[in-house]
Amino acid sequence: MSKETILVSGGAGYIGSHTVRMLAEEAGYQVVVIDNLVFGHRDALVSEGVVLVEADISDANAVEEIFSTHNISGVVHFAAFCFVGESVTDPLKYYANNTAAPLTLLRAMREHGCDQFILSSTCATYGDPQEMPMTERHAQQPINPYGRSKLMLEQILSDCDQAYGLRSVRLRYFNASGCSRDGLIGEDHDPETHLIPNVLRAAKGEIGPLTVFGSDYPTPDGTCIRDYVHVEDLARAHVNALNYLSEGGTSFSCNLGTGQGASVRQVIDAAESITGKQVPIEYGERREGDPPELVADSSLAKQALGWEPQITDIRHIIETAWAWMNGPGGGKYRE
Ligand code: UDP
Repeated sequence: MSKETILVSGGAGYIGSHTVRMLAEEAGYQVVVIDNLVFGHRDALVSEGVVLVEADISDANAVEEIFSTHNISGVVHFAAFCFVGESVTDPLKYYANNTAAPLTLLRAMREHGCDQFILSSTCATYGDPQEMPMTERHAQQPINPYGRSKLMLEQILSDCDQAYGLRSVRLRYFNASGCSRDGLIGEDHDPETHLIPNVLRAAKGEIGPLTVFGSDYPTPDGTCIRDYVHVEDLARAHVNALNYLSEGGTSFSCNLGTGQGASVRQVIDAAESITGKQVPIEYGERREGDPPELVADSSLAKQALGWEPQITDIRHIIETAWAWMNGPGGGKYRE
């Protein structure tokens, strides 16, 4: 088993914490997490030996201290803001945190001779879909500052490869969802905007009726279709991407999705059957910026990283989210 040390930024967040756990417990890496705990949770770091540095990635001194204390062989970068609506009303916050702050990590990598970077990127870098399923060849014309903030970082990474030989894999997630299969860690956002946790909380009566954003889309049941991909499958893609780079792989970007779409209505129906409860809903206006359908073609991830999702059934994904929500913490971390 490898004993290399990986730095994970935003490792106490949702996808970050599942990746940290897989790196530490399954792939045998030493893991150092840098997280300012604004959205992350200390309790989401459940694996023995993981070092948490509570700091912001823009804090050059803290980052330098990490690189001079630990022999970091690769960086997996999650730390970012991800609320599309907020990115429209406060774009500078997004460009500062999602585009500018990671430069501190890249500078330290360059200084310390670390040349492997995995980026948590997003299908929001594509913008309005022109073809379905979407491949990596799809034009990248994001329609909001969130997507642009991530696309710019992808471009910065290409430039860093050209100039410094700093190699990267940019993973463009579709809809991250579900919780660890053993129910130990999961999704705890505040505010929670995502469909699946809100459907389940509405089923439990913890929140009022779920608003379905639009029922007149050109889809079979009129509601939006998304490609929900399980968070542990996403986590495994990062482990595979690190292996790929450490074996000398060259930089590239790839999609991560199951290739299967589920509509909002199908998610609600599946949740009702899993929970045995009715999900109270009301139909509302379309949410701005929501395309009718987003489904990934992930064949490049399969070909280059040997990655295939293990969970492809939306029911199974919802079951893991439901188990976490009914665990000891009720789907919430203490801190
Ligand atoms: N959605 C909804 N009601 C909600 C939250 C989401 O109808 O309370 C819809 C949303 O319009 C989208 C899908 O569910 O079509 C997934 O949204 P989510 O916010 O989970 O992820 P996104 O696709 O925005 O990344």
